[in-house]
Amino acid sequence: MIAATTAKGKRIALFGLGGSGLATAHALSQGGADLVCFDDNPEKVKQAQAEGLTVRDLREVDFSSVDELVLSPGVPLTHPRPHWSVELARKAGKPVVGDIELFVRERNARAPECPLIAVTGTNGKSTTTALIAHVLKSAGRDTQMGGNIGTAALLLDPPASDRFYVIECSSYQIDLAPSLNPSAGILLNLTPDHLDRHGSMDNYAAIKERLVAASGTAIVGVDDSYCTAIASYLEAQGRKVLRISSSANLHEGIHFRDGWIVKSGAGGTQKLFDLNEAPALRGKHNAQNAAATWAVLAVSGLSSEEIAEGMRSFPGLAHRMEQVGRIGKTLFVNDSKATNADAAAMALGSFENIHWIAGGLAKEGGIESLGPFFSRIRRAYLIGEAAPAFAATLGGKLPFEISGTLDAAVVHAAGNAAQEGEETVVLLSPACASFDQFPNFEKRGDAFREAVLALEGIKPMKEVVT
Ligand code: ADP
Repeated sequence: MIAATTAKGKRIALFGLGGSGLATAHALSQGGADLVCFDDNPEKVKQAQAEGLTVRDLREVDFSSVDELVLSPGVPLTHPRPHWSVELARKAGKPVVGDIELFVRERNARAPECPLIAVTGTNGKSTTTALIAHVLKSAGRDTQMGGNIGTAALLLDPPASDRFYVIECSSYQIDLAPSLNPSAGILLNLTPDHLDRHGSMDNYAAIKERLVAASGTAIVGVDDSYCTAIASYLEAQGRKVLRISSSANLHEGIHFRDGWIVKSGAGGTQKLFDLNEAPALRGKHNAQNAAATWAVLAVSGLSSEEIAEGMRSFPGLAHRMEQVGRIGKTLFVNDSKATNADAAAMALGSFENIHWIAGGLAKEGGIESLGPFFSRIRRAYLIGEAAPAFAATLGGKLPFEISGTLDAAVVHAAGNAAQEGEETVVLLSPACASFDQFPNFEKRGDAFREAVLALEGIKPMKEVVT
């Protein structure tokens, strides 16, 4: 744990006592803050009390005597409307910050020279963060990974000059971290998402832009118009910008061409890495993640050989095109994280001869947009509430069955795939939320893995990052 020593002697109100909120409360209390905390959920309040934290309804606290409100990233700061604790802080003119802000202050106070790599974007944050951390570790660097992935930032080991931090930042966390100043910041991409929390695309983009604007080196994916505009704007401000892309059209930067990660610039184009050598990084979207990783680690002083070696051995992330196992010529892939059609498109575009398991709680728009991928699908196995609607979309276009449950779908798909005698893929990429049949996408992916590993003759693949 990193004690929040920069809050020593300050009066802090904290709202939100979920996992990271509780950790933040302990870090503040260890750091010597005068802390009161609260949550709207009485269970969470009880737990905090049992853990020795000072709990008080913040409506009863005089905010004029409070230095700062520390807010959990899940609690609305602006949209759809500020949480009542935010309104109290604002009325009293007090800053509202989050755990990443406290982490950054500790780094700046204790070891400002330690490399801090921060990763944001609409999609690919977790994969890129995990990939960067994996390459650093495999190159023998002292590495701490956390933030929006895995471990809350304040639960990591304390800052030290040669320790690398790789921190995934959601837009909520950036919004609450005004001092965030990574040595290298990555903005992968920007598409409309979470607009319910940010009000407008411009506001959402402005928040994400802040992360790279304050970075020593800004690494920006230029595959969408928002990020392209941000890269040009930062350059015009005289900032150091490195462009990355998953397409071949970059005159200067690190991008993807004919299966390779390449570097283009004044001296022409140089091949860096054959992405086919990294089995966990299939698909164009992963080319963007790999290009970002190459760019940031080259800037951070790793050799090309060190980066290539780490990419080759990256085991992949659980639930994101996770290769679970193989029976003969059939590969089983868990892409449970694909909770909408856009995400499922990435997986469908990465394989051929697919036995596709889809369905769950449908999202707006359904799977109409997946039409261009239908020719890659041998048969679909529909589960959950969305099954009838998906069946209506697929009818007459490709063979399908309504399997109902995930277990039945796995058994049927495995049986049919085995008949084919050529390379096939049984792919769970549901294009749906999981909540009709599972508590979350992780549990759905775990259930898929379990069902696959129970199949006769299955050869499991290596462990992934969870
Ligand atoms: P995040 O942490 O931003 O949600 P993940 O790395 O967990 O991103 O990936 C979530 C899903 O998004 C993956 O299953 C994949 O389908 C898709 N994805 C991953 N990387 C990218 C990318 N660079 N661009 C677009 N989609 C991506």
